[in-house]
Amino acid sequence: MSVILDGKKLREKLLTELKLKVDSFNKKPTLVVILVGEDPASKIYVNNKKKTAEKLGINSQIINYPYDVTEKELLEKIEELNNNSNVTAILVQLPLPKHISKENIINAISPKKDVDGFTPYNFGKLFSGEEPIVYPCTPKGILLLLKEYNIDIEGKHVVIVGRSNIVGHPLAQMLLNKNATVTVCHSYTKNLADITKTADVVISAVGKNIIEGEMLKSGCVVVDVGIFKDASGKTRGDVDFESASKIASYISPVPGGVGPMTITSLMLNTVELFEKNLV
Ligand code: NAP
Repeated sequence: MSVILDGKKLREKLLTELKLKVDSFNKKPTLVVILVGEDPASKIYVNNKKKTAEKLGINSQIINYPYDVTEKELLEKIEELNNNSNVTAILVQLPLPKHISKENIINAISPKKDVDGFTPYNFGKLFSGEEPIVYPCTPKGILLLLKEYNIDIEGKHVVIVGRSNIVGHPLAQMLLNKNATVTVCHSYTKNLADITKTADVVISAVGKNIIEGEMLKSGCVVVDVGIFKDASGKTRGDVDFESASKIASYISPVPGGVGPMTITSLMLNTVELFEKNLV
């Protein structure tokens, strides 16, 4: 059986350390989250972020706009937040309604307050092999989880399934910057199993149950980023845990693996932006 990559346990450890740091600040960081519409999943994510921030002593504010808010209104609010020296970090909860350009909104956030690391400035830094102001949260959380379990990725073949700008794409670059050999697979990839079978580390971020134990090399490391509800309403990951955990040396569960690490990274990034004090 595999060793579990326990994101909950690591979250407790890292957030306990982070709280001590925040306690030592005279002035506290402020995280502002913009939420558009009433999507239940987005509401849960945003409320969890607020609750976690408050437990740490980080000020947090949710600005909830109705679904029909205009792009102009959002851009004006972002401009106001960019110019407010009391605001440390700005996060726009995705997805946005179709009438709003996600790119325009993200591009409007000051890179100095870009807690997700998604702005072209921070992406550009990352992809040119330089340090962004902060790293995107989910990839950063995955690397923290691997580090906690002393999983060295230098020279290893890492296969990432999924190439979104939130997970797969920046993660591939972060792993390359750490000297892994990286293969990125997506919906056009042929013979996925032939590729995953050659991997020392498989990281899946798709949102469908696509990785089975028989697609893995014995002793590999498996990181499951996917989260979705199956037909019975149960929360699932991309990986069939039962078969994969018989083959892998380490595996992250869903829930309790990457999810807790993403929120941990968000809190770490908020504090990092505060400490860098670029406002
Ligand atoms: P996304 O934007 O929908 O991207 C999904 C990716 O999967 C795309 O690159 C797509 O390829 C690829 N794909 C789809 N079907 C495939 C197939 N049959 N074989 C190989 N690749 C396939 O999703 P996302 O935002 O990256 O999120 C992915 C999953 O991770 C979701 O379940 C999401 O909820 C979860 N997630 C979890 C966390 C966390 O903290 N745990 C954070 C973020 C996301 P194309 O590019 O060719 O379309």
